[in-house]
Amino acid sequence: MSLHLVLIGPPGSGKGTQAVRLARRYSIPHISTGDILRQAVRDETPLGRQVAAIMASGALVGDDLISSLVEERLARRDAAQGFLLDGFPRTEAQAQVLDGLRRHLLVVHISASDDEIVRRLGSRRICKSCGLTQSVPENDLYSEDCPYCGGSLIRREDDEPETVRKRLTTYAALAGPLIALYSSRPGYIAVDGLEAPDKVTAAIFAALDARR
Ligand code: AMP
Repeated sequence: MSLHLVLIGPPGSGKGTQAVRLARRYSIPHISTGDILRQAVRDETPLGRQVAAIMASGALVGDDLISSLVEERLARRDAAQGFLLDGFPRTEAQAQVLDGLRRHLLVVHISASDDEIVRRLGSRRICKSCGLTQSVPENDLYSEDCPYCGGSLIRREDDEPETVRKRLTTYAALAGPLIALYSSRPGYIAVDGLEAPDKVTAAIFAALDARR
């Protein structure tokens, strides 16, 4: 049976890390709307030019734009046997669009406290060239090079403390209804993102394996 997986959690909850592991284990494409948009910004495509300022400010791009982007992505052949959505849906309107596209969603909700998120995002860096995300030691102000491609590691513009606060406020306002919707369904799985990443992974694998 194909696996229609959705990951929900605040920025910095470890969604990206878990998404990579889940996609590998279940051999499904990892579809991160944030990664797709950041790539478009790096490539300076028309989409990238349209969303660059919105993303830098920490605000969300429009529901219609992101929903049609996801619809197109899910129509690609590699998503026919399942997919993992990371960063979508983020609003009730997006959740409705997704309900219209695919049934039998399994929704993994990773929670984390604001304090921990602010701490984690302070040490998050992204490679300017390949877009890979990594963590540097706390208070490490100099940038090392990317261990994979040698590009420079920089802080994401939207990981600046002021912008993080804005993103958390947005998340808090929008995630409540989304979680209320999904938690009333049988495919809902809640995990504690404050645990060590390997423990979180094990909890998600166990819950998913039990439901398939
Ligand atoms: P992320 O990497 O998931 O934190 O996303 C980075 C940024 O991309 C967000 O702050 C938004 O500006 C934009 N974005 C990504 N996914 C969505 C979405 N589902 N709805 C609206 N904006 C999004």
